[in-house]
Amino acid sequence: MSCGTGSRPGSSPRVRARPKFLETLPPPPQALPTFAQEIAPPDLSPWLTDHCGIPGVVHHEATRPGPHVVLTALVHGNEFAGAIVLDRLLREQVRPACGRLSLVFANLEAFARFTPDNPVASRFVEEDMNRVWNRQILSSPRHSVELDRARAIQPVIETADILMDLHSMLWPGAPLILAGATESGRRLSTMIGDPSLVVSDHGHQAGPRLIDYERFSDPASPYAACLLEAGAHWAAHTVETTDSAVRALLRHCGLLTAEAEPPATPCHQLVVTDIVTAQTPCFRFVRPFQGGEVIRRRGTLLAQDGPDEIRTPYPDCMLVMPNLRPGRGQTAVRLARTLSERPQATERIGRQPV
Ligand SMILES: [Zn+2]
Repeated sequence: MSCGTGSRPGSSPRVRARPKFLETLPPPPQALPTFAQEIAPPDLSPWLTDHCGIPGVVHHEATRPGPHVVLTALVHGNEFAGAIVLDRLLREQVRPACGRLSLVFANLEAFARFTPDNPVASRFVEEDMNRVWNRQILSSPRHSVELDRARAIQPVIETADILMDLHSMLWPGAPLILAGATESGRRLSTMIGDPSLVVSDHGHQAGPRLIDYERFSDPASPYAACLLEAGAHWAAHTVETTDSAVRALLRHCGLLTAEAEPPATPCHQLVVTDIVTAQTPCFRFVRPFQGGEVIRRRGTLLAQDGPDEIRTPYPDCMLVMPNLRPGRGQTAVRLARTLSERPQATERIGRQPV
């Protein structure tokens, strides 16, 4: 369904299909395809002991004041490219030149269940850990593996000035940074510069993400968060994209000083206008679209969902992370339009209060 965050009235992507067309699309495939696995899970055993009071969390603090930068990996247990990069930083003994650097391996229980034979099964144990992030949910009496772990790392999140949450994608697509709904998130994302695709959005109806947590999503807050979608889950280049983005963030925040900065990259900024949620178990795209594809013509047929057609509601519509096998109630695709072509890579953020 449309979230109504920018489409013109009457331009919903969902329209009732012609009966004739309903008979022409093949039924959706039942099984997921086999995904290439070029990388293996890292050995995180050195970081799982109680370094700073919370297993799987490692802090390093400089004597010079500066921002508290938090990097989170494994919010989804099978997305371990980010964990490889955090493990690399720890093994290289990277230390902040100022402020504090916290590295968080989030859903360790799900990660421990990863198996190459069924790599998609360990995204979470009981519930999506990236749909529980507001204080009302976290203070509720309910328990789950993910809720309890979120509560365990909450004290770190509550002191973050800047947070980058490291993720990857199941389906093919261009790397991007999700900036959430705030100006501070957008500025943080454009400051990183690589990936240069920055998408502002309002999250998912199923629950708030870590970057949507009140500390970052309150427009009056000086703190900022963004979410990196660095490429395919188990592709080698996803690790390098993550490494590059993490180091760019640390440089811009002043925590890394030794490395030369690459030239600034103009960012392509977009805003999500519509969230298309599968309303039937028969949702199917007309072809296997890739994330980041731009559909030039308004009204282009994207998918069929039971009796409904999903069509682009405006020209030059970008498809954000299409889920080619969405279950009923899941996000199938987000539609985004260009916010600005103006280069923003010279903006800086990060001298936040500590
Ligand atoms: Zn993820």
